[in-house]
Amino acid sequence: MAFEPAPPTWVPASNNDLFPVRRVFCIGRNYAEHAREMGRDPDREPPFFFTKWAETVVPSQTVIAYPQGSDNFQYEAELVVAIGIGGRNIPVARALEHVYGYATGLDMTRRDLQLEARKLGRPWDVGKNVEQSSPLGLVHRAAELGHPASGAITLAVNGQIRQSSDLSELIWPVPEIIAFLSNYYRLEAGDLIYTGTPAGVGPVVPGDALVVRIEGLTDLQIAIGPPVNDEQCASERK
Ligand code: MN
Repeated sequence: MAFEPAPPTWVPASNNDLFPVRRVFCIGRNYAEHAREMGRDPDREPPFFFTKWAETVVPSQTVIAYPQGSDNFQYEAELVVAIGIGGRNIPVARALEHVYGYATGLDMTRRDLQLEARKLGRPWDVGKNVEQSSPLGLVHRAAELGHPASGAITLAVNGQIRQSSDLSELIWPVPEIIAFLSNYYRLEAGDLIYTGTPAGVGPVVPGDALVVRIEGLTDLQIAIGPPVNDEQCASERK
């Protein structure tokens, strides 16, 4: 081997378990008020997805370096579905059988780059697929938790609530998201699905502390650190 392969990404799960992350799917505009704040019609157009690398997932308590190339790094609090059993063309009525569990999550976004890409009809990758941009709280097993279809979801920045909604406001609920996505990809154990964010998204600055709270789940706590230090690239080349 030319070099040792990178280790897989793991996140903590309930019962002192670990959940190995395979892929990250994210759904866009899945709360009506957020669709409106992003200048879009929230009527039930088909859901759309983008993806992130598994390595963008970081656990609660991480200090995220403010990313390169952006002056507008924003939070998006989201319910995250963890897939435990793979499948293709999954019917809505069987979709929840494929769920391992649920967690609180953040879909951190270089909003300036995302909006520029959107305007130009370009892919969203540089706006969305950002290093350390997919923080994930403890994964709770559905076997113990059940399948939350309602419950408060909030995000606070430095103790101030900025996003506040309810899971019942999801335009496309979890079973439909799983069924829809599985019509395009074979879902696999370890896949995460970030289900979209409510209204109230906004920017962060170094020093900010973020807390995502979803009824019944463990809080996700993240801090924003200083900007990525690009001098590190030079030291790795020696
Ligand atoms: Mn999102």
